[in-house]
Amino acid sequence: MDQLPPVTKADLMDHFDDAITTPDLKLADLENHLRALTESGGDPGLPWQGQWWAAATAGTTGRSSTFVWNRTEWATVLASYARANDWAGISAGLTRPLKMALVSSRVPTHQSAVVGASLRSGLVPTLRLDVTAPMDETVAALNRFQPRILVGYASALKPLAAEQRAGRLHISPQGVMSASEVLRSHTASKLEAAWGSKPFDVYAATETAGIASPCTYRNRHIYDDLLIVEPVDQAGNPVSAGTTGAKLLVTVLFSRTLPLIRYEMSDTLRLGGRGCPCGRSFTLLQDIEGRVEDGQGTLRTILTCQ
Ligand SMILES: [Zn+2]
Repeated sequence: MDQLPPVTKADLMDHFDDAITTPDLKLADLENHLRALTESGGDPGLPWQGQWWAAATAGTTGRSSTFVWNRTEWATVLASYARANDWAGISAGLTRPLKMALVSSRVPTHQSAVVGASLRSGLVPTLRLDVTAPMDETVAALNRFQPRILVGYASALKPLAAEQRAGRLHISPQGVMSASEVLRSHTASKLEAAWGSKPFDVYAATETAGIASPCTYRNRHIYDDLLIVEPVDQAGNPVSAGTTGAKLLVTVLFSRTLPLIRYEMSDTLRLGGRGCPCGRSFTLLQDIEGRVEDGQGTLRTILTCQ
């Protein structure tokens, strides 16, 4: 059987109202909802019409893309992010809340904002800090909060590591998680020097939610139960393990409202085999050479506008 052709983000947004499996859900209405949320400063964790969670990506080409999930799908999105903590060996408990500090975009339509607002609870007290806030304010807020997990863009964590080394920031997180950007080895070393353990490099995207994250051996495993990840060459043919693809096709197994089947992403990565001392049989992610994620695009846009 021939494989389905890849679907680009532009294709999907052009045919959104046809692709969506709930006929009364229209792209224009979702975009209006997200615009109103931004303007009103409303709570992005509350579902729209009591049943939909939506998020937008800014898009490096200027066009924004919108994604939507129903309650069951949104629960899977949240679980995929929670899995990163679990695999890193850091878990929430009734006697020990999982205090999480998130240094990222505070744009309310960004998925990290919607996830953060949805997860905020007694079990997971979340402190959301704006990546563009003045450093002394961020340091003071982190010192007060004392997170068990520190999550942020690699470019946001690096200056915080310098603050820790300089003695102004004094937190001792159980785990430091880098997301949205490629974590270079020199940055990883700086984070390790500041907080005493190697950071966890989490791979996720708005469209897919969590894609891969490290176990305690710091081997990244693909979330094979949630997605099919196919690195392909320029012509769209799958490349073998150990070879870096020119782009990536992702099929999200749990998204039924807006199906993503062989959805094209520009990330270039290399898969490995299977087998890890942790016992997980999920495919190993050897390396990510390039990421063209919208979170990063948004971040660049924000930083450029400062
Ligand atoms: Zn492992």
